[in-house]
Amino acid sequence: MLNSAAARRALPSIDRLLKLDTVITLIDRHGRPLVTETLRAVLDGQRAILAGDPQAIPPADDALSEQCRARLHELSQPSLRPVFNLTGTVLHTNLGRALYPEVAARAATAAMTRAVNLEFDLGDGARGERDSHVEVWLQRLTGAEAAVVVNNNAAAVYLILNSLAPKKEVIVSRGELVEIGGAFRIPDIMARAGCKLKEIGTTNRTHARDYEQAIGARTAAIMKVHASNYKIEGFTASVAESDLAAIAHRHALPFLNDLGSGMLIDLQAYGLPHEPTPREAIADGADIVTFSGDKLLGGPQCGLIVGRRDLIEKIRKNPMKRALRIDKVRLAALEAVLRLYADPARLVRELPTLRLLTRPQTDINAQAQRVLPALAAAMGDRADAAIVECSSQIGSGALPVDALPSAGIALTPRAKRKSSAADALSIAFRALPVPVIGHIREGAFILDLRCLDDEAGFLAQLPNLKMQNLATQIAEATPKKTAQKDFNK
Ligand SMILES: *Cc1c(COP(=O)(O)O)cnc(C)c1O
Repeated sequence: MLNSAAARRALPSIDRLLKLDTVITLIDRHGRPLVTETLRAVLDGQRAILAGDPQAIPPADDALSEQCRARLHELSQPSLRPVFNLTGTVLHTNLGRALYPEVAARAATAAMTRAVNLEFDLGDGARGERDSHVEVWLQRLTGAEAAVVVNNNAAAVYLILNSLAPKKEVIVSRGELVEIGGAFRIPDIMARAGCKLKEIGTTNRTHARDYEQAIGARTAAIMKVHASNYKIEGFTASVAESDLAAIAHRHALPFLNDLGSGMLIDLQAYGLPHEPTPREAIADGADIVTFSGDKLLGGPQCGLIVGRRDLIEKIRKNPMKRALRIDKVRLAALEAVLRLYADPARLVRELPTLRLLTRPQTDINAQAQRVLPALAAAMGDRADAAIVECSSQIGSGALPVDALPSAGIALTPRAKRKSSAADALSIAFRALPVPVIGHIREGAFILDLRCLDDEAGFLAQLPNLKMQNLATQIAEATPKKTAQKDFNK
């Protein structure tokens, strides 16, 4: 047996390893600098092991090259990659919210790989305005005079406040001082936008006289924030939007309405609960309406600002617009999505968000019957697989209390400690080539099938499920239980 210093000396040189056939193959694939760096890291690791353990035996060259291959393989996996969203939340913020329709993906690819008339007027060859590509569609769909598009709805809210109410007061009801997950809190955005928040009323009740009494010389606007991710029930009162608009206009103030999700069409036509539309908000007298592009609208991440032309001009001239503007790729996708809205018959077929939200439970149930045998086989004697009723959520804070009847598969471990065994199942599914994300309920791992589009792809990778060392998997991975609950934003 070698002493540890001798063992370390017994490790090969980088140069010797670089001449191995297996390593030359790796150089062909990954390039010499990365392979050399990885070999050095592998050797450093071995040196540390040998220094710490006099019993350790220096590995053979082949074993070192294999370690190098495994590390490079890991490194070459994209960090951001497709997953199966079987959480039951259709617009899952942590899983990227809305999926682009085909037409939008094609438009985005074209804008990515070719020059485009982003800010170029093809008529007179002069400089153009990037928002003009979508403005006509937004006018048509919302009834507003003009529109601006920015990075997301948080940016939209920031920009309207910073443009229309700098150093002045904006009146908001205490029932609407929302936090939309992460760091988006109305009071904080208000402060960063340079406005003074004037809170009025109480958490559950705010009256017209509260608004009237709060208006003073320093008031710049009245704002309404849609209670998108919560609901206040019981002894409540709020002021109708048309009344708020009337109060604001009596005092020559703009009325701003942050809708959050803001679906462009009435969802009731599709058997879904009603969500306020920008068209209704404009018709009710809002001077500016803001909403997200990647929530119910089903498009790319962006924030839409629609409303009165004079106010929109002010917003457009704010230097911060440049910092918050949308890029050509998402703008191309947005234009394609808005075009789809022109034809409601095509919309439900081609807009994935709407298609998934309206998927009938019977259809999902039939899919559950089809995939059940393969899941049961993959579980063997470790867990029982059964079809269960699920209730999907829209997500992204839209209609938080409305559930969509759905179906899924419950995998219930036969182990005694069911909850840690269910954790282990969720870890094994996340380790698949295309990770599968479900949720845990009462000791079972649940896959809600509402959003399972690629059934064949899902089934094809089940034989890869690795559940041998569940105990070690649990020990190594610390499952973040909050990650799947934190979608309501
Ligand atoms: C979601 C939401 C926002 C933030 O929109 P993002 O597109 O996520 O930036 C702002 N206000 C309301 C009311 C929302 O629901």
